[in-house]
Amino acid sequence: MKIFIQFERQFDFFLTKNRQGRRFEHFLNRRASVKDIIESLGVPHTEVGHLNFNDHEIDFTYIPLLQGVLDVHAISPPFTVLSPSALRPGPFGSIKFIADVNVIRLGRFLILLGFDVSYSSSYSDQEIADIAEIQSRIVLTRDTDLLKRRKIIFAKRIRADLPYDQLCETISFFGLEKLISFFSRCTACNIKLVTVAKKEVMHLLEPKTKRYFHTFFQCPQCKNVFWRGSHYDNIKKKISSLGISINH
Ligand SMILES: [Zn+2]
Repeated sequence: MKIFIQFERQFDFFLTKNRQGRRFEHFLNRRASVKDIIESLGVPHTEVGHLNFNDHEIDFTYIPLLQGVLDVHAISPPFTVLSPSALRPGPFGSIKFIADVNVIRLGRFLILLGFDVSYSSSYSDQEIADIAEIQSRIVLTRDTDLLKRRKIIFAKRIRADLPYDQLCETISFFGLEKLISFFSRCTACNIKLVTVAKKEVMHLLEPKTKRYFHTFFQCPQCKNVFWRGSHYDNIKKKISSLGISINH
């Protein structure tokens, strides 16, 4: 049996040239769900926004049993993980991420902007999928095959090469700009910083820091102390220069 498939142009990134931007024939020699069909052509299910078969909306479990046309539509940003859709009926209760090892700097930047991001250079693909499922986390990765795992519901295949560009890509895809809370988390521990009295951390500070700074934050876990010094200003300037507004 054969069906016809058409992917939107946003999927060109994943598809071979002869399948980009056109309707093509696809032969089915076994019963297969549309999730399996789409992924066998290179597109992870996490990138799909909605699906139609012969103009009827379907979900990933649908198995084509007659000839027809499968239209595969991309997610249109801003993509919210907080409300249900035909393909993802169980939304998340909050926005949390897990960053794969290939986008760890992106993960740290997101923490710097106040987002909850789990990351480790030692997570295996299996662990990432398990944590994404158990802790309801959105997966960020440059590994297309990782995103074909069933346990992963919400994710983004990061396209940009450079961490700052990846940050812009993520912020705009998930519409995160208004949720930014700059400099509120420890980038090492992914834990919210608390303000701490200067006298309590005095013994940890360099003489110049003691003289010029008066507001301090501490990570409850690693006990590192932070203040809004030149490092803070430089990153803030860089992020503003990307067109991301962090003054919330
Ligand atoms: Zn810490």
